[in-house]
Amino acid sequence: MSESSHRPTSLLVVEAEPVRLNALREHLQKTDGDTEVHGAAELAVALERLSSGGVDAVILDPDLPDSQGIVSFERMYAFAPNVPVVVLTNPGEDELAVRAVQGGAQDCMRKDEAEPSVLLRSVRYAIERHRLLDALRSLSLIDGLTDLYNRRGFNDLGEQYLKLAARSSRSVSLIYLDIDRFKTINDTLGHHVGDRALLCVADTLRDTFRRSDIIARMSGDEFAVLAFETTEKDAETLVQRLRTEFAELNETTRERFQLSVSIGLARNDGESAVHLDELLRQADAAMYREKRTKRRKVAR
Ligand code: GH3
Ligand code: MG
Repeated sequence: MSESSHRPTSLLVVEAEPVRLNALREHLQKTDGDTEVHGAAELAVALERLSSGGVDAVILDPDLPDSQGIVSFERMYAFAPNVPVVVLTNPGEDELAVRAVQGGAQDCMRKDEAEPSVLLRSVRYAIERHRLLDALRSLSLIDGLTDLYNRRGFNDLGEQYLKLAARSSRSVSLIYLDIDRFKTINDTLGHHVGDRALLCVADTLRDTFRRSDIIARMSGDEFAVLAFETTEKDAETLVQRLRTEFAELNETTRERFQLSVSIGLARNDGESAVHLDELLRQADAAMYREKRTKRRKVAR
């Protein structure tokens, strides 16, 4: 599976029935001699196998004799958060798929669509993505909690992208966001719930912006996005969509917190070069203007 690693890639298939395990073994024998597949028919066996290390990825069918549904994934993730997991679902289990991906699964796939070749492609992608994130993390460009870029990643990449945008006269928008009264969430519900609120914001940003945009957690409860080739109208639409997303989230959430955010926008139309610092300063100032207005309203 991976030409660059020194040992064979080790795949753990956690499934009550051995059918898929055998199909994968058969497929790999024909196509890829560099991947080992191990099976575990119960969650307890899988966790034991994971505890001895060396597993590169897991394929998990969560319906097991000793654990079912999302709980199987959650227990596995809690036990080995650093091993990428591809979760198999039955048709109609969309909610399980969403919860698993939000909870840290690298991918979800319907069992009836998980042909060995398709499944292995997903697993390869999961492993590569995981390795890339690890490499970036080790360069200290990624925020450990949210997997977004951190301030350093944002600055490094942002400067490069801005130069590129200036050379080709492309417009950029910088969106700066700070959670309102975040300390209250921490103080009343606990730090771990505060962490979940930060993850919620990160997911909402990921859902709203393009994969090619640079999304970062700048510090504590502050986030920034550098979006490319957006007209002023597009940028305003994106900010509006973000506000709508948070409003919907607050209506549907099972969490005990409500998320209120202040957002600032700064733009460069691509006709003249601009430094990232300057855009950040403008977006931050715009964000603070909104926050001050809200505070004044609350004080009245
Ligand atoms: P404001 O409405 O003015 O934005 O106030 P705020 O309560 O949101 O407070 P502020 O933005 O000044 O402070 C952010 C807080 O975030 C302070 C710190 O305790 C908390 N924090 C920073 N990093 C983390 C983290 O990783 N997890 C959690 N749970 N809290 C964090
Ligand atoms: Mg705040």
